[in-house]
Amino acid sequence: MDRAQRRVVVVGGGIAGLTAARDLAAAGHDVLLLEATDRVGGKLRRHEVAGVAVDVGAEAMLNRRPEGVTLAAAAGLEVIHPAVVSSRLWVRDALRPLPRSLMGVPLDLDQLASSGVLSADGLARARREPELAAEVLDGDVSVGDLVARRFGDEVTDSLVEPLLGGVYAGRSREISARAAVPQLVAYAERGSLLEQAGAIPPSYDRPVFAGVPGGMGRLPEALASGSFVVRTGATVRGLRPGPDGAGFVLAVGPTTAPEQLRADAVVLATPAAPTARLLGEVAPAAAAELAGVESASVAVVTLAFRAAEVLPLLEERLGGQGSGFLVPPTAGRRIKAATFSFAKWAWVRDAGRRTLDGEDLVHLRTSLGRHREAVALQAADEELVGWSLADLADAVGLSATPVDTHVQRWGGGLPQYALGHLDRVARVRAAIARVPGLAVCGAAYDGVGIPAVVASAHRAAREALDAPPAG
Ligand SMILES: Cc1cc2nc3c(=O)[nH]c(=O)nc-3n(C[C@H](O)[C@H](O)[C@H](O)COP(=O)(O)OP(=O)(O)OC[C@H]3O[C@@H](n4cnc5c(N)ncnc54)[C@H](O)[C@@H]3O)c2cc1C
Repeated sequence: MDRAQRRVVVVGGGIAGLTAARDLAAAGHDVLLLEATDRVGGKLRRHEVAGVAVDVGAEAMLNRRPEGVTLAAAAGLEVIHPAVVSSRLWVRDALRPLPRSLMGVPLDLDQLASSGVLSADGLARARREPELAAEVLDGDVSVGDLVARRFGDEVTDSLVEPLLGGVYAGRSREISARAAVPQLVAYAERGSLLEQAGAIPPSYDRPVFAGVPGGMGRLPEALASGSFVVRTGATVRGLRPGPDGAGFVLAVGPTTAPEQLRADAVVLATPAAPTARLLGEVAPAAAAELAGVESASVAVVTLAFRAAEVLPLLEERLGGQGSGFLVPPTAGRRIKAATFSFAKWAWVRDAGRRTLDGEDLVHLRTSLGRHREAVALQAADEELVGWSLADLADAVGLSATPVDTHVQRWGGGLPQYALGHLDRVARVRAAIARVPGLAVCGAAYDGVGIPAVVASAHRAAREALDAPPAG
């Protein structure tokens, strides 16, 4: 590989673009990052609610995978873990403890039984899982169908659906098991999941998650102060091969008078839809594949309350325990999750102390919106807040009026990994590999969680560097 310094343009200032830019700058290249909006971070974003800056996008990262926590530490940030990890499920009209599971697949039948999550019939069906032969899977299968086949529909509807819904805002019977929960496929192909349960690490267990004091939104802020140039308000509208086929020319800014920028290499760290548009001329086969990746829109509603109006109530109703709850679609509610941020993160609780004329505040958040539901985008802020309050009232009896609220919409915020996603990504990468100096990364490829996105960015930085320098 030629080690000469090259001019690399990274398009998209989310966690993927920032990570790729950081790697490329560290390798000695001249890196320019172009971000369309007025700030970097993408889905990692903080906003003040009642005077406290809290995350209004991603608020945690998996700790079990190393890429996210390693990056945060390398950026000089302290890595912390949630103060409480126990979550609940709102099923069969009550908040019930979330049993030990792998993305909703029960790993402990006794715990499942005592949680009350399943009906007697549902539990009896789940108990029959060890009698089933190992799965012989030809091609892909959805997570929901695979689990229903082994444990019955109720496990899919009450357990898998809310857990997958929390991560992908998608529907478990449409999401690829091979792409979203490959371990599940591997275990099912070997035999009974319950019989292998001892070897399966559960989805919610300490210290599965990590965060950063002050919020995950601090991570992009820390990365952007690195040794590369960041331009915000710079929408990339076109990408074409450079003159005489060497390198690239990017069209940046207003469509009427775009600026033309030359680059030896380009990393596209944008979501699937804009990436598809940008690839049209340089890698049409990859563009066509990415145009087929659908996405779900979600909204995050943050609510700040007087602590005195919330804490005694949660103590009484939930024994002061728990980081929040997940809600399956079958519950017929508007929200799909509630996070008691003040309980989950010590820094949120501390930041709320004596904030309102000496009074303590607590912050909670809800999320709404699933794949193919327009509600998260189309409903007014007041409706999203009203629905959140109504569901919180039904779930935990909370009737206080918030002192402040914030609604963050994430239009098309979560790519959907449909059946065959892994093959699609392989075809995208094969088409991109035929264009020297071009690489892609981000949530559309190898996982939507922060560590997977960071891993895709490290890979893209390596692939972009493999290009020979422009003419
Ligand atoms: C509400 C929500 C909560 C989440 N919670 C978690 C969580 O707790 N833990 C977790 O691990 N993951 C979570 N995720 C997933 C995770 O946050 C995302 O998958 C990840 O941050 C995506 O990073 P990215 O860099 O690929 O894309 P993005 O963050 O979408 O960044 C892409 C950037 O590209 C820019 N852009 C787009 N088009 C152009 C263009 N033409 N020119 C220039 N710039 C452009 C965009 O403005 C954006 O800033 C959550 C996601 C959402 C939506």
